[in-house]
Amino acid sequence: MQPKQVMTNCIFCDIIAKTAPADTYYEDDQCMVIANINPLAPLHLLIIPRSHIASLNDMTSADEALAGHLVLVAKAMAEKMGIAEKGYRLALNTGRGGGQTVFHIHFHLLGGKPMDDSLLSRGIA
Ligand code: 5GP
Ligand code: ZN
Repeated sequence: MQPKQVMTNCIFCDIIAKTAPADTYYEDDQCMVIANINPLAPLHLLIIPRSHIASLNDMTSADEALAGHLVLVAKAMAEKMGIAEKGYRLALNTGRGGGQTVFHIHFHLLGGKPMDDSLLSRGIA
């Protein structure tokens, strides 16, 4: 396995390194799941890989297993948190135009209320 990439001045790298606090729901050798500090739904978790990959645009075929792992962790978290049956949203904002504000790739797992399109955007110019 390649060494994990770490970036200075990245809040999610700091959270992964435990030099910044987070409400942690799950972690393994590849990723961490934390509560969003600014939740947009009753349940709003972030699935964050340990490696610093800026966005989906920076993923390559070498990250295929990691990408699959993150999706399956999201599914497992939805089950664990009791929202799998009713339904939930898994979102991956990419680039400023896609609503991305933290440039360390992460999935949003949103649930606990019916999803509507207002949760897809905060009004990006
Ligand atoms: P993005 O807009 O990049 O798709 O999502 C970044 C998310 O990270 C935002 O929803 C924001 O609320 C969340 N966030 C930003 N800084 C922190 C932080 O320091 N801790 C936690 N737990 N979430 C954060
Ligand atoms: Zn990072």
